[in-house]
Amino acid sequence: MNIIVLGPPGSGKGTQGKLLSQRLSAPKIATGDLLRDAAKRGTDLGQQAKSYMDQGLLVPDEVIINLIDEVLCSPEASNGVIMDGFPRTVAQAEAVDRLLAERSSRVDCVLCIDVPEEEVVKRMLGRAAQEGRSDDTRETIQQRLAVFWEQTAPLVTYYRDRGVLIDIPGTGTVDAIAERIGAALRL
Ligand code: AMP
Repeated sequence: MNIIVLGPPGSGKGTQGKLLSQRLSAPKIATGDLLRDAAKRGTDLGQQAKSYMDQGLLVPDEVIINLIDEVLCSPEASNGVIMDGFPRTVAQAEAVDRLLAERSSRVDCVLCIDVPEEEVVKRMLGRAAQEGRSDDTRETIQQRLAVFWEQTAPLVTYYRDRGVLIDIPGTGTVDAIAERIGAALRL
Protein backbone atom coordinates (compact mmCIF):
# COMPACT_ATOMS: atom_id res chain seq x y z
CA MET A 1 0.00 0.00 0.00
CA ASN A 2 1.24 3.49 -0.84
CA ILE A 3 0.10 5.94 1.81
CA ILE A 4 0.67 9.69 1.99
CA VAL A 5 0.58 11.46 5.34
CA LEU A 6 -0.51 15.03 4.66
CA GLY A 7 -0.78 17.91 7.10
CA PRO A 8 0.75 21.23 8.13
CA PRO A 9 4.21 21.34 9.70
CA GLY A 10 3.85 20.33 13.34
CA SER A 11 0.75 18.19 12.71
CA GLY A 12 2.51 15.00 13.79
CA LYS A 13 3.01 13.55 10.27
CA GLY A 14 6.46 12.23 11.15
CA THR A 15 5.37 10.60 14.41
CA GLN A 16 2.25 8.99 12.94
CA GLY A 17 4.08 8.00 9.76
CA LYS A 18 6.68 6.19 11.84
CA LEU A 19 4.06 4.30 13.88
CA LEU A 20 2.21 3.34 10.70
CA SER A 21 5.44 2.23 9.09
CA GLN A 22 6.10 -0.13 12.02
CA ARG A 23 2.52 -1.38 11.98
CA LEU A 24 2.50 -2.12 8.24
CA SER A 25 6.20 -3.08 7.99
CA ALA A 26 6.49 -0.60 5.15
CA PRO A 27 9.32 1.93 4.92
CA LYS A 28 8.58 5.55 5.76
CA ILE A 29 10.25 8.00 3.41
CA ALA A 30 10.51 11.64 4.51
CA THR A 31 11.92 14.15 2.04
CA GLY A 32 12.63 16.56 4.95
CA ASP A 33 14.85 13.92 6.64
CA LEU A 34 16.63 13.15 3.35
CA LEU A 35 17.26 16.87 2.74
CA ARG A 36 18.48 17.51 6.31
CA ASP A 37 20.82 14.55 6.02
CA ALA A 38 22.12 15.77 2.65
CA ALA A 39 22.64 19.27 4.08
CA LYS A 40 24.60 17.83 7.03
CA ARG A 41 26.80 15.83 4.67
CA GLY A 42 27.26 18.89 2.42
CA THR A 43 26.27 17.07 -0.80
CA ASP A 44 25.15 18.98 -3.92
CA LEU A 45 21.54 18.26 -3.04
CA GLY A 46 22.08 19.44 0.54
CA GLN A 47 23.75 22.65 -0.56
CA GLN A 48 20.93 23.38 -3.01
CA ALA A 49 18.26 22.70 -0.39
CA LYS A 50 19.68 24.33 2.72
CA SER A 51 18.92 28.00 2.05
CA TYR A 52 15.31 27.21 1.10
CA MET A 53 14.86 25.10 4.23
CA ASP A 54 16.36 27.73 6.51
CA GLN A 55 13.96 30.33 5.11
CA GLY A 56 10.95 28.05 5.50
CA LEU A 57 10.45 27.90 1.73
CA LEU A 58 9.88 24.82 -0.40
CA VAL A 59 12.86 23.39 -2.25
CA PRO A 60 12.12 23.75 -6.01
CA ASP A 61 9.96 21.06 -7.59
CA GLU A 62 12.58 19.89 -10.09
CA VAL A 63 15.02 19.09 -7.26
CA ILE A 64 12.36 17.30 -5.22
CA ILE A 65 10.92 15.41 -8.18
CA ASN A 66 14.39 13.96 -8.94
CA LEU A 67 14.66 12.92 -5.31
CA ILE A 68 11.18 11.35 -5.33
CA ASP A 69 12.03 9.53 -8.55
CA GLU A 70 15.08 8.04 -6.83
CA VAL A 71 13.26 6.97 -3.67
CA LEU A 72 10.18 5.53 -5.37
CA CYS A 73 12.43 3.53 -7.74
CA SER A 74 14.47 2.03 -4.91
CA PRO A 75 13.91 -1.69 -4.18
CA GLU A 76 12.78 -0.92 -0.62
CA ALA A 77 9.81 1.02 -2.03
CA SER A 78 8.61 -1.82 -4.24
CA ASN A 79 6.02 -3.16 -1.79
CA GLY A 80 4.58 0.19 -0.81
CA VAL A 81 5.75 3.17 1.21
CA ILE A 82 4.56 5.71 3.73
CA MET A 83 5.27 9.16 2.26
CA ASP A 84 5.95 11.83 4.88
CA GLY A 85 6.39 15.43 3.75
CA PHE A 86 5.82 14.80 0.06
CA PRO A 87 4.19 15.51 -2.26
CA ARG A 88 3.90 19.15 -1.18
CA THR A 89 2.77 20.73 -4.46
CA VAL A 90 0.41 19.70 -7.23
CA ALA A 91 3.41 19.26 -9.60
CA GLN A 92 4.96 16.83 -7.08
CA ALA A 93 1.64 14.98 -6.71
CA GLU A 94 1.43 14.57 -10.49
CA ALA A 95 5.01 13.28 -10.51
CA VAL A 96 4.21 10.74 -7.78
CA ASP A 97 1.16 9.53 -9.76
CA ARG A 98 3.24 9.20 -12.92
CA LEU A 99 6.16 7.42 -11.21
CA LEU A 100 3.86 4.95 -9.45
CA ALA A 101 1.83 4.35 -12.62
CA GLU A 102 5.08 3.39 -14.39
CA ARG A 103 5.26 0.56 -11.81
CA SER A 104 1.56 -0.29 -12.22
CA SER A 105 1.02 1.13 -8.77
CA ARG A 106 -0.84 4.10 -7.32
CA VAL A 107 -1.49 6.25 -4.27
CA ASP A 108 -3.89 4.10 -2.25
CA CYS A 109 -4.68 6.45 0.55
CA VAL A 110 -3.95 9.98 1.81
CA LEU A 111 -4.29 10.61 5.53
CA CYS A 112 -5.00 14.29 6.05
CA ILE A 113 -4.11 15.23 9.61
CA ASP A 114 -6.04 18.25 10.79
CA VAL A 115 -4.67 20.31 13.70
CA PRO A 116 -5.65 23.91 14.61
CA GLU A 117 -3.02 26.53 13.76
CA GLU A 118 -2.36 27.63 17.42
CA GLU A 119 -1.68 24.01 18.33
CA VAL A 120 0.87 23.42 15.51
CA VAL A 121 2.76 26.61 16.42
CA LYS A 122 2.90 25.49 20.06
CA ARG A 123 4.15 22.03 19.05
CA MET A 124 6.83 23.42 16.72
CA LEU A 125 8.16 25.82 19.34
CA GLY A 126 8.32 22.87 21.76
CA ARG A 127 10.18 20.81 19.15
CA ALA A 128 12.62 23.70 18.60
CA ALA A 129 13.50 23.61 22.29
CA GLN A 130 13.97 19.82 22.24
CA GLU A 131 15.54 19.05 18.86
CA GLY A 132 17.08 22.40 17.93
CA ARG A 133 15.91 22.23 14.31
CA SER A 134 17.26 25.30 12.55
CA ASP A 135 13.93 25.95 10.77
CA ASP A 136 11.83 25.90 13.95
CA THR A 137 12.18 29.60 14.80
CA ARG A 138 9.03 31.69 15.28
CA GLU A 139 9.46 33.56 11.95
CA THR A 140 10.27 30.46 9.94
CA ILE A 141 7.33 28.64 11.48
CA GLN A 142 4.95 31.39 10.25
CA GLN A 143 6.57 31.21 6.81
CA ARG A 144 6.25 27.42 6.64
CA LEU A 145 2.59 27.61 7.63
CA ALA A 146 1.92 30.26 4.95
CA VAL A 147 3.69 28.04 2.38
CA PHE A 148 1.58 25.09 3.52
CA TRP A 149 -1.72 26.92 2.99
CA GLU A 150 -0.62 28.35 -0.33
CA GLN A 151 1.18 25.44 -1.99
CA THR A 152 0.32 22.22 -0.16
CA ALA A 153 -3.31 22.65 0.98
CA PRO A 154 -4.57 22.40 -2.67
CA LEU A 155 -3.55 18.73 -2.49
CA VAL A 156 -6.54 18.13 -0.20
CA THR A 157 -8.86 18.84 -3.13
CA TYR A 158 -6.55 16.99 -5.55
CA TYR A 159 -6.80 13.77 -3.54
CA ARG A 160 -10.41 14.22 -2.40
CA ASP A 161 -11.41 14.42 -6.07
CA ARG A 162 -9.59 11.13 -6.64
CA GLY A 163 -11.51 9.49 -3.76
CA VAL A 164 -8.45 8.56 -1.68
CA LEU A 165 -8.48 11.23 1.05
CA ILE A 166 -9.27 10.34 4.66
CA ASP A 167 -9.57 13.15 7.24
CA ILE A 168 -7.95 12.40 10.59
CA PRO A 169 -8.56 14.77 13.52
CA GLY A 170 -5.02 15.40 14.74
CA THR A 171 -5.60 16.62 18.30
CA GLY A 172 -5.30 14.41 21.39
CA THR A 173 -2.59 11.96 22.39
CA VAL A 174 -0.24 10.26 19.94
CA ASP A 175 -1.94 6.93 20.77
CA ALA A 176 -5.44 8.32 20.22
CA ILE A 177 -4.47 9.67 16.79
CA ALA A 178 -2.73 6.39 15.87
CA GLU A 179 -5.91 4.55 16.85
CA ARG A 180 -8.01 6.80 14.59
CA ILE A 181 -5.63 6.08 11.72
CA GLY A 182 -5.76 2.33 12.41
CA ALA A 183 -9.57 2.44 12.41
CA ALA A 184 -9.69 4.50 9.21
CA LEU A 185 -7.42 1.98 7.46
CA ARG A 186 -9.27 -0.98 9.06
CA LEU A 187 -6.04 -2.34 10.52
P1 AMP B 1 9.80 18.73 6.91
O1 AMP B 1 10.82 17.99 7.72
O2 AMP B 1 8.92 17.81 6.13
O3 AMP B 1 9.01 19.72 7.73
O4 AMP B 1 10.62 19.59 5.82
C1 AMP B 1 11.54 20.58 6.20
C2 AMP B 1 11.87 21.48 5.01
O5 AMP B 1 12.45 20.70 3.96
C3 AMP B 1 10.67 22.17 4.38
O6 AMP B 1 10.32 23.38 5.05
C4 AMP B 1 11.19 22.42 2.97
O7 AMP B 1 12.10 23.50 2.93
C5 AMP B 1 11.98 21.16 2.69
N1 AMP B 1 11.14 20.09 2.09
C6 AMP B 1 10.87 18.87 2.62
N2 AMP B 1 10.09 18.15 1.81
C7 AMP B 1 9.86 18.94 0.72
C8 AMP B 1 9.09 18.77 -0.47
N3 AMP B 1 8.41 17.64 -0.71
N4 AMP B 1 9.07 19.81 -1.35
C9 AMP B 1 9.75 20.95 -1.13
N5 AMP B 1 10.48 21.18 -0.02
C10 AMP B 1 10.54 20.19 0.91
